[in-house]
Amino acid sequence: MRLAITNYLQNLLNIGVTGSDIKLAQKLRQLNLLILIALFASILYFSVYIYALEKPLAAKILIPFFILYLATYWFSDKNRLFWGKIWIFSVYLTHIFLYSAILFSKASGFHFFFFILPPVLILIFDNNELVPKIVFTFLAAFLFFLAEIMPDSGFSILIDDTENQILYYISMATCFGGLVVVTGIFDHEITVLESELSRLATRDPLTQILNRRQLFLLLEKQFDLSRRYNSVFSTILIDIDFFKKINDTFGHKCGDEALIWISKKIAKSLRNPDIFARYGGEEFCIILPETPEKSAFSVSEKLRAVIEKQPFRSKAGHIMTITVSCGVCTISSEFKNYQEIIHYADKALYRAKRKGRNRSEVWFSENKR
Ligand code: GH3
Ligand code: MG
Ligand code: MG
Repeated sequence: MRLAITNYLQNLLNIGVTGSDIKLAQKLRQLNLLILIALFASILYFSVYIYALEKPLAAKILIPFFILYLATYWFSDKNRLFWGKIWIFSVYLTHIFLYSAILFSKASGFHFFFFILPPVLILIFDNNELVPKIVFTFLAAFLFFLAEIMPDSGFSILIDDTENQILYYISMATCFGGLVVVTGIFDHEITVLESELSRLATRDPLTQILNRRQLFLLLEKQFDLSRRYNSVFSTILIDIDFFKKINDTFGHKCGDEALIWISKKIAKSLRNPDIFARYGGEEFCIILPETPEKSAFSVSEKLRAVIEKQPFRSKAGHIMTITVSCGVCTISSEFKNYQEIIHYADKALYRAKRKGRNRSEVWFSENKR
């Protein structure tokens, strides 16, 4: 039962979302959520008018508004986001003005609902949709003051002080609730955007492993730590053998698939503290914290063997054995900066290539002299 309700709500939130791009989908979900809140609030007030205040006229007048809010889903379904927003805010302003200035007096606190509008407008409308944002904000302010200055007499529905008090508290609670929801959505949006930005800044778009920029940052940090605490760490540079041939024979797309396949294989074989990044085109780099030369060489050989062991199968069905060459370098007191460790790992890699590929070579610090 609970699952059915959750599914139903999810479906309502996702109206019109299928097939639309991420940005549109996010905005559609926000509009759908807004409709849902308007519908819930209408049901809440409907019950209050019927059961708490016994004012059936106020409840009856709410029914067309409920239908008008519901109709906004049509705009979502047709992906007419902009007009959906114009529609729902027009209905909202009419609704609040009617209840705050015509049906009831301002003592009901209804006109405070105009206050939720500016943050909702900022959230729902895009940055470039400045005109509707400004127009609706001014309208909300104008109608609020109009409701404020209108005399408390001649209202269609007469209610006593206690009833006004009930309405006032319900309106305040709903307004606070609305503000909490809007702030919550803002917060969620910022968190999602932040994590997306950080992913874009630190990850390689093809393989989703760390990019070169992040590699250098982490390498520098590792270098500083090792200097400070006299700790050891190693790096491995990995270069795919004859990768150009894969591209030339089976196409660039197959080459891309191979890069993803290899990066997944390597990532799976590493331990948690190890840092794995795409160094360049078909070159990868691994930082192994707290790992001396001998262990780093073992890791390198293990990775090399793992890649060689299982042939790669492309989506088009091409099967091929891919091999890699690796250059290992461990931090030495002779290194003046973090770039040197990469430099000597590259030298070791070059030696591995020269000696016939599909092998690991270590840069021994005495070779430096
Ligand atoms: P070696 O064994 O000496 O390393 O030979 P190689 O063919 O692997 O090396 P080479 O440097 O001659 O060629 C590397 C190729 O990698 C050339 C380049 O087009 C390809 N490459 C670089 N980045 C990408 C990429 O993102 N996708 C694909 N498909 N190919 C890439
Ligand atoms: Mg290369
Ligand atoms: Mg290569």
